[in-house]
Amino acid sequence: MLDGFHEECGVVAIYGHPEAANLAYLALYALQHRGQESAGIAASDGAHLECFRGMGHVADIFTPRVIASLPGRFAIGHTRYSTAGDTVLLNAQPFAVNCNKGQIAVAHNGNITNAVELRAKLEREGSIFQATSDTEVILHLMARSRERTLAAALREALLELEGAFSLVLLTENRMIVARDPQGFRPLAMGQMELSGGRVCYAFASETCAFDLIGATYMGEVEPGEMISIGPEGFTRERYAPEAPRAQCVFEHVYFSRPDSIVFGRAVQESRELLGRLLAREHPVEADVVVPVPDSGVTAAIGYAAESHIPYRQALIRNHYVGRTFIEPSQAIRDFGVKLKLNPVRHLLEGRRVVLVDDSIVRGTTSRKIVRMVRSAGAREVHLRISCPPTVSPCFYGVDTPTKRELIGANNTVEEIRRFVEADTLGYLSLGGLREAVADHDCNYCYACYTGDYPTDLVNLEELMAKRGERH
Ligand code: AMP
Repeated sequence: MLDGFHEECGVVAIYGHPEAANLAYLALYALQHRGQESAGIAASDGAHLECFRGMGHVADIFTPRVIASLPGRFAIGHTRYSTAGDTVLLNAQPFAVNCNKGQIAVAHNGNITNAVELRAKLEREGSIFQATSDTEVILHLMARSRERTLAAALREALLELEGAFSLVLLTENRMIVARDPQGFRPLAMGQMELSGGRVCYAFASETCAFDLIGATYMGEVEPGEMISIGPEGFTRERYAPEAPRAQCVFEHVYFSRPDSIVFGRAVQESRELLGRLLAREHPVEADVVVPVPDSGVTAAIGYAAESHIPYRQALIRNHYVGRTFIEPSQAIRDFGVKLKLNPVRHLLEGRRVVLVDDSIVRGTTSRKIVRMVRSAGAREVHLRISCPPTVSPCFYGVDTPTKRELIGANNTVEEIRRFVEADTLGYLSLGGLREAVADHDCNYCYACYTGDYPTDLVNLEELMAKRGERH
């Protein structure tokens, strides 16, 4: 069973730096929010490719000894998110193989929507798969290609794929990066000047990785574009015909860090505007604006600025909550949320509170938080959500549950309000969301808010059914 639905990931690539693996490690550290299940780095010294993958957080996997075992001037890295059932090292990326095209390591972010069909076809034709990740499908397609150059084989493979991918690939002496023709997932390009006028190239899902390694942001890898860097230099080519763009709006709503530039736009700018527009669309008389940390912080700042209601951090997050926590044998009510968040009673007692978060998915966390704020003494709780109701699952790489579990798919806003026990509930409109990301040319995908998928999902029923099985 492919696990592509859970490919919320971060990718990085470094070309031409004496400490490439170390820079990849730092970049992954900055991209840790994009996935905490496993991480890996493949590096090459020009003759040999080495790959190391591990389960858990970047800082725990890459000890100085591991980094030292990854020498060379070229490196790619990946950090992966997954739900519990898929926690296997075999699915960690990069994927490295020795095939008829030489040593290749590849990693990607996104979900290939026809991976199931491609894999079945490849297996019928004799390919043997080691894991259940979509990435392996790309490698088999490349290995099978009759094209002589690596770039041509990759081009041929990519043209068979449907859906979302931002991909980084490394051989002994060449790096190729590419984005799917519609540009669902981000991939930024950066550069560093080294001594002697040499240039090091860097690629990463988000520019916050460049800030940490000291690279300058040079723009986006364009949708449908492939960049190849090898001994002969740097070449950019459009490998696929132009297609309507479908940049994931959820990157700006929730997923990316506010200090990143994503799809050429500062996430901070979008997120603050989300909050300002939310305040215009759903004003309320209140005493304090309180974010749900960390996801609601920037939108709450925007809401407060627009409404002139004071902003207060009245929910404190414990940043050290790990995945493995020994629960006390006596069940404590709402233990999970209490572990993560604690209210500041002093700021909430007797107040009318505007609580701002980015989204309601199932509604269960939101209800616990509303209850927590109320039990800390809030007189009124007005929940404001900085995007429209989430009504449809994502098939392009964001982990949203099935329609059955999405509270927004099956209930009116009033019903959701009652479920989460808020005094009022306001969602930002689709128009507001478009305005916040400055989408004047229909460049974004809003499928999770509209159910209109920007690709032909011929196997939609199957994709839906598979989703149902996994959650
Ligand atoms: P709930 O009300 O139980 O649906 O939980 C909503 C919370 O989940 C919000 O605080 C969101 O920030 C967070 N959230 C939304 N989408 C995702 C996602 N794809 N992955 C992880 N957390 C998410």
